[in-house]
Amino acid sequence: MNFKILTPNPPLRFTNSGSARPRTNGGVQHHTGGGASMWGGRDVTSVQDIHRWHLNNGWAGIGYHLYVRLNGDIFQGRPIDRVGAHTGSPAGTNNSTVGVCAEGNYETVHRVMPDAQFNALVWIYREYLPSLFGPGWIRGHNEFMATACPGRFFPMAELRMLEYRGQENITVGEEMTPTLFEVTTRTSPLNVRSLPSASGTLRGTLPRGSRVEVIRRSGGWLYVVYGALTGWASADFLTKVVDVFRFTDVPAGAWFAPAVREMWERGIVTGTTPTTFAPNDTLTRAAAVTLLYRLDGMIDTGLGATFNDVCCCAWYHDAVAWAASLGIVQGVGDGRFAPGNDMTRQEMAVVLWRYAAATGQDVTVQEDFTLDFPDAEQVSGWAVKAMRWAVHRRVIRGNDRGELQPLGTATRAEAAVLLQRFVGLAE
Ligand SMILES: [Zn+2]
Repeated sequence: MNFKILTPNPPLRFTNSGSARPRTNGGVQHHTGGGASMWGGRDVTSVQDIHRWHLNNGWAGIGYHLYVRLNGDIFQGRPIDRVGAHTGSPAGTNNSTVGVCAEGNYETVHRVMPDAQFNALVWIYREYLPSLFGPGWIRGHNEFMATACPGRFFPMAELRMLEYRGQENITVGEEMTPTLFEVTTRTSPLNVRSLPSASGTLRGTLPRGSRVEVIRRSGGWLYVVYGALTGWASADFLTKVVDVFRFTDVPAGAWFAPAVREMWERGIVTGTTPTTFAPNDTLTRAAAVTLLYRLDGMIDTGLGATFNDVCCCAWYHDAVAWAASLGIVQGVGDGRFAPGNDMTRQEMAVVLWRYAAATGQDVTVQEDFTLDFPDAEQVSGWAVKAMRWAVHRRVIRGNDRGELQPLGTATRAEAAVLLQRFVGLAE
């Protein structure tokens, strides 16, 4: 592999030269993480941004030694032989380790590492660091202290195969369109392992009938996502769920059928029973938020919802807590969320618009774009921006009479169609 260490341009200036690191036992791996709150709405940043952030905090400058971009470029951060500032506890860790940062948020945004970035990391740990400091280990930041870093989707186990002798073929596997699979073991639960091999560490098990999302594959192994549990499972015991789509009220020719099917295959919409979808039922606020929560990968925020009508054991609690933490939903006043209230089309537009903004999508609309519908004046003042965005991006379209119907109640079928178009924007 042909890599080199690039010098940032302009060069990074440190406020002091620091001290030489007395020994080097291994490397600590990080991701940039942060996302919307920390890096101005972008999920990735640059070595200069991180350097500036350290300087603004009154520190010497960037604390990582190496910064690896998604495209595989490797930038020099703090000089490689200096004491870093990347793993504050336990005390002394910085005196014996190199800090390596991978660009991207591998907790909530990126779920499969690009080959270029992975290969750059492999080169760092296999060739570059051993050439300077001899053999060492690789640990994630979260193995030292309570932090999400480097993220639950970071291919840590795959990277650590380097610590085993004779493992020449290291891969993160081949990326797949996220697809819903069902666990079809006969007698015992399905093992989920850290590596695509029976020798991988056991991370957890899944009972027969569990529905999991599969995002990459390697040989006879599939990488599954089931809430917080991620890892490799044998493809022999996983069956694509597409084979069991059987909603009798979603006829193949219906205008909403392709959207319901696609969103169902992705695990975003579910039936009301195994054989009914109830396309004409109205969409409640709780259900709408849950759809977005599934779309986002069901990140466990660990937060409680603070609305007094959202019980902690309600099926929609985690989704509401997540949406409120990102500012995607607000209450209806008096500390209430009104989970059972119907969602209107303009409310749906607002929620999607806020979600798009919270995940760093471009939500700008040309100033001269107008809502050209006979009932456009019915759009509430607080929903105008969101409606303009939704119509401009063709997420929301007029009905067959050319009306926008902002106050009309969204149905479950319409929600599936809106989400399909919304997902199409991001892809
Ligand atoms: Zn970290």
